[in-house]
This record gives sequence, structure tokens and C-alpha cells, in this order.
Amino acid sequence: MAEKLLEVKNLRTEFKRDKTWVTAVNHVSFSIDKGEILGLVGESGCGKSVTSLSLMKLLSPINSRISDGEVLINGKDILKMDKKEIRKIRGHEISMIFQEPMNSLNPCMKIGKQIVEAILLHNDIKKEEAYERAAEVLRLVGIPEPDVTLKSYPHQLSGGMCQRVMIAMAMSCEPELLIADEPTTALDVTIQAQILELMEEIREKKNTGILMITHDLGVVAEMCSRVIVMYAGRIVEEAPVQELFASPKHPYTQGLIASVPKLGSGEESLPSIPGSVPDLAVMPQGCKFAPRCKYAMEICHEQEPELLTDESGVHKCRCHLMNQKEQEAQNV
Ligand code: SF4
Repeated sequence: MAEKLLEVKNLRTEFKRDKTWVTAVNHVSFSIDKGEILGLVGESGCGKSVTSLSLMKLLSPINSRISDGEVLINGKDILKMDKKEIRKIRGHEISMIFQEPMNSLNPCMKIGKQIVEAILLHNDIKKEEAYERAAEVLRLVGIPEPDVTLKSYPHQLSGGMCQRVMIAMAMSCEPELLIADEPTTALDVTIQAQILELMEEIREKKNTGILMITHDLGVVAEMCSRVIVMYAGRIVEEAPVQELFASPKHPYTQGLIASVPKLGSGEESLPSIPGSVPDLAVMPQGCKFAPRCKYAMEICHEQEPELLTDESGVHKCRCHLMNQKEQEAQNV
């Protein structure tokens, strides 16, 4: 039986806007097993990155707060840890690859120093040994001359190389859980394929659990075994990847899948989801997707649907339409 690595229970994250608190992540629950790749998808502003930053406790306390929930890594609640305890598990148990390598690496520090600093923070080893380990992880991420790269500044490397360095840094302390927030968005397709292959290799070698945050459904189809779809800070659908692509239940997921270009389809224009993600401060009553949904019924504007599991036991969906269909099927 698969071993649970991460369990997120009822996570709620809020931001201060003017003098009120608005909810960006609303009672989100999910788990990741050791060695599993879980995809987290949705449009910009749906709460994916805020979820990941909440897991790492990286949000600024000045304008944000985690007001409810638990984040258990190997059974320990990250949200209850103090700064010292958090620093101990960051890098070692849980690590993150950020969206923009150029913005995340320190431009004034050589690559070697940045990786070695992370290794020394989490391991009781000598500097020379840390340098050797840094060169080893750079080799692992496919950098041909690690010694040259260690002596380089970020601006001397290409975008693809910087992203590999970010992955190397995240992997340098051999974390059990890797959070990859749009790890290939800034890269061209060839480098993207190499980076994804590399992450898959790392997962196989180290049995690393990976949370893959992306808006690219192609990446999800290729990499993940399970997918969560988020909308307006809520999980609206969750299913094994093949099941989700074969029979998406939520109209939002259906819209996302329909808007992916299909080779040779002959379509002149791609279908799109009308409207945009609602403002956190003025959420519609009832289903948050109702203003954009072509199936919206009266009940959708009044009552927020619950996230319910279908008869398969693995496919969850938050939609009145699905609830009605399930009820009809039960009554037949
Ligand atoms: Fe559309 Fe209603 Fe389902 Fe929301 S609950 S997605 S509005 S059908």
C-alpha cells in the first residue's frame, strides 16, 4: 500500500485587502503519496501558487494568514512549527522549484555559493564536501561542466540552465516532497521536455513525491497520475489523470480540456471559457463558476455545491449537475 507523504486538510489562506480579509484558498484538502506526482491545475488567480506557498509557510505575515487547516508532512503539522523547525524541514523534507529562475536566483552570488549554502544549512558536513555534492547534483540535472557552472553568476547562464540549477538546488538536500510551481513555463519546448524527463528520473531514483503546479494540461497528461482542478480558491474536481481526460465532470474542467489545441482537428478557432476568474473580494453567491457556466441552473446561483465523490470512489466533483445525475441514476 502507498505511503502518505503529505496530507493537506481544510487549508484556508486569506489576504488582507484594504481593511478586510479575503479568502484565496478555501478549505482545500488533498494528499500525496511517496513517489506520486499530483497535478494541480487551473487558470491564473485560481489559488494554485498560494496553496503551494502556504504549504511551505512562505507567505508574508504582513498581509496574509493561514486561518484554518493542517499541513502534515510525514505526520508532522508544518503550520504548528516555529521558524527554526520550519527551516529544518525546508530543503530536507520539502523543497520548491519556483516559476521564474532568473528572479529566484541571487544575481550577485555565484551558483556554487548558492547551492552550497543550502546544503550546509541542512547537513552537518564540511564545505569541501558540500561543493562536491553541489557538483554532483548539477551533473544529475544534466549540466555538462558542473565546475564551470559552480563558478558562474546566474546572468552567465541561459534560462534553461538556470532552471536546471533551480532544480538542482531544490534536489540538493534530497527532499521527500518537491513542489514544482510552473517549472517549465519560461522555457522553450525542447528544454521543457528535458526538464520534465529529468524530474521523472529524480522521482524514480529517490521515490520523491511531486506536486506539479501548472496551467499546461499537456504537462499533466504526460507526468501526473492524479489531478486536482482548482477554481476561485476551491477544488472543483479531482480524479486519476486518465479518468479526468476521458470523462471530465465539471464544466470548468471540460472548458479547460476543450481549449487545448488538437493537431489536425481542422478547427478555425479554439473554444474558450467566457469571462474571467472572479475577484476574491466580490465572489458570486452559490457556485463560483456560475457566471461563466453554460449549464448554470437556479440552484447554482443560490447554493454552493459540495465536493462529492462518485460511485468509482476516486473521482470527485463540485457541481450541482453531477449531484443531480448521480441522484437520477440512483432512482432508476
Ligand atoms: Fe455550472 Fe451549476 Fe455546476 Fe456550477 S454547479 S459548474 S454553475 S452546473
